[in-house]
Amino acid sequence: MLTTRQLEDLDAHSYQDYTSTGHGLVLLPTGATEQHGPHMPLGVDAMLARAVATAAAEDLDALVAPALSYGYKSQPRSGGGNHRPGTTSLSAQTLILQVRDVALEFFRHGIRRLVVINGHFENYQFLYEGADLAVREARAAGLDDSRVVLLSYWDFVDDRTLEAVFPEGFHGWDVEHGGVLETSLMLRLHPEKVDMSRAPSHPPAQLTPYDVLPEDPARTPSSGCLSSPAGATAERGELLLNAVRDGIVRAVSSEFGK
Ligand code: ZN
Ligand code: MN
Repeated sequence: MLTTRQLEDLDAHSYQDYTSTGHGLVLLPTGATEQHGPHMPLGVDAMLARAVATAAAEDLDALVAPALSYGYKSQPRSGGGNHRPGTTSLSAQTLILQVRDVALEFFRHGIRRLVVINGHFENYQFLYEGADLAVREARAAGLDDSRVVLLSYWDFVDDRTLEAVFPEGFHGWDVEHGGVLETSLMLRLHPEKVDMSRAPSHPPAQLTPYDVLPEDPARTPSSGCLSSPAGATAERGELLLNAVRDGIVRAVSSEFGK
């Protein structure tokens, strides 16, 4: 019986007992260190990925690995841009190899089922590459049953929840950086880290359907948020968390069995 779902809090002997069952399942949260406006901290993406993983862990009999807390470069059309103060990013190669290395270590320990839970939009394709390299290498080494499920948590928000959280209309996931989704989840999970008196109020960013390099700070709101978080509440965060947790538990159970 595990005394904690957090891998970093578990002793190595209990961990070995857990992996030796052959049914071990590890959830790997990935985020970023990235500005999230004046009202929220830099660590939001990793905090939320970790909280979502923790919420799903009990039902999945899973362990939550320490989060990868740096992510791929923030981009203007999804995170406000990498030029902003505080944003501290990795190159693609570094992120790919972090994921590959960590996944291969879990496979070496006897874990065969890994779920990468992404909390930072720009990470996704590089997480995919890292997972793909790890699964190929593990299988080439004879670990034939090694598998990875990769997901971004917001993809589990269903239409009904979306309507309840955005009664005035949903502007799209691309402008949700620092907006109602992340702020509501933070108000539900880490209210002491949010200062709504500093929340900016402005219309959603007008984004072009293309990118321009180098980044031009004038193309996105100076608040660092791509839409206003003014409608965020802990109650909306609860709806979002429940939808995401239930959706992830269902998906992972159906892919891996329980
Ligand atoms: Zn974020
Ligand atoms: Mn992000």
